[in-house]
Amino acid sequence: MHQQRHNIFFIGVALLMSCTSINKDAKQIHQNAILIDTHGDILFNQIESGIDIGRLQTTGNFDLIRAKEGGLNAQFFSIWCDETGGYELANREIDSLYSLIDRYPERITLVRTATELEQAVKEQKLAALIGVEGGHMIEDRLDYIDSLAKRGMSYLTLTWNNSTSWASSAAEEASGKVKPQDAGLNDFGGQVVQRLNLLGVMVDLSHVGEKTFYDALAITNKPVIVSHSCAHALNPVPRNLKDEQIKAIAKNKGVICVNFYSGFLDSTYQRKQQNFLKKHDAEIKSLTAKYGEGSGSEYLIANELTAKYPEEAAAIRPLISSIVDHIDHIVQLAGIEYVGLGADFDGAESFPLGMESVADYPKVTEELLKRGYSEADIQKILGGNVIRVLRTNKGA
Ligand SMILES: [Zn+2]
Repeated sequence: MHQQRHNIFFIGVALLMSCTSINKDAKQIHQNAILIDTHGDILFNQIESGIDIGRLQTTGNFDLIRAKEGGLNAQFFSIWCDETGGYELANREIDSLYSLIDRYPERITLVRTATELEQAVKEQKLAALIGVEGGHMIEDRLDYIDSLAKRGMSYLTLTWNNSTSWASSAAEEASGKVKPQDAGLNDFGGQVVQRLNLLGVMVDLSHVGEKTFYDALAITNKPVIVSHSCAHALNPVPRNLKDEQIKAIAKNKGVICVNFYSGFLDSTYQRKQQNFLKKHDAEIKSLTAKYGEGSGSEYLIANELTAKYPEEAAAIRPLISSIVDHIDHIVQLAGIEYVGLGADFDGAESFPLGMESVADYPKVTEELLKRGYSEADIQKILGGNVIRVLRTNKGA
C-alpha cells in the first residue's frame, strides 16, 4: 500500500487493455519459472467489499483466476491498515485469508517456508504468504509478533507511512515530522528486529526512513526484504531506495522487489496525475455530492472518471518497460541476485499501461527477454532470489 486507501484517484478497475499476445519463448520461460509477488493488497478490499476473489472479478487487480492466467505461483498477501487500526484488524485480515483458503483448498494454500512454497508449486496451488505492513499493528508488544508469526507472518514491514514509537518512516523522516535526532530504531526497535530474526520472519524495509533502514541492517543477522520499492536514482521519491541503500541490501544478501506503482516508477507521473485531477476538479466535486464521502465512494468516483476519460487516464501512465528500467538499475548496481517483484497491486491507483492485473506478469518476462536477460537470470528475478531470502530466514 503506498498511500491512504481512500485516495480520490484510486482506480482499481481493470481497464480491459490486456490480452495482447506474448512471444512464445517468453511464455515458456515464464511458465517454467517460479513467479512470486511479494506485495499485494487485495485482502483489505476483500474485507471492505466482501468480494469473492476465488471468482473472476471485473474490478481490482487480483483474483485466483487471473493469478493462474498470469503464471503467479506465490503471493505475499499484505495485512495492512493505517495508523487507526492495529492488532485486531490485522487478525481479521488474516482470518479473511484463512477463509479464502478454506473455500478453495484445491487452488490456494498457506505456506510459511521455501520448501512448502516449492511443494505448493508442484501441486499447482497458489502459495499464499502473509506480510504484515506496518509495525503499528504489533502495538509495541513483542508477544504480538510471536502470535502473528504463529498465524503465518512471513515478513513484518517495520513501518508503513506512519512512524511507530520505535521506528521512523520514510514519509515522516522526509517531511520533517520526525526530527533527525529522533529518527531510526530505538532500543525496542532493535528488539523487534532480533525477535523477527529469531522467529525466522523476514524484516521488510520498504516504507522505513533511511535512518531506520541502516539501523535495522546493523542489527539483523539475516537477509532482509524490501517488499515493494523502486530505485531513487530513476525517480527521487522518499519511498525509493538510493544507490547506497541498494548496495547495502546486496551486502546483506537481501532482496529488493520492484513496485509497479506509476508514481514510484516514473518521475513525471505525479505532475501528470495532478494536472488530470485539476482539469476535472468540478466533476470530482459533483461526483462527491452524488456518492457522498467515505465508505468506498472515492472508488466509485474514480471508476466513473476513468471510464469517462479513458484516453486521458491512459496517457498519464508509464510503459511496462519502466518496470524493467528499475530492475536493470538494481542489477547493474548490485548484481542479479538481489532483485524481485512486489507489484503493490490493489494498493495503488495507477500501474503501467497494459499492466492491469496479475494476469499481465508475462509481459515483464517478455520485456526482460528483450533486454537480453537469460532464462537463469529471469528465474532469479521472478522468484528465485526471494526463495533464497525466505529459506535463509526460515532455515527451511
Ligand atoms: Zn506499501
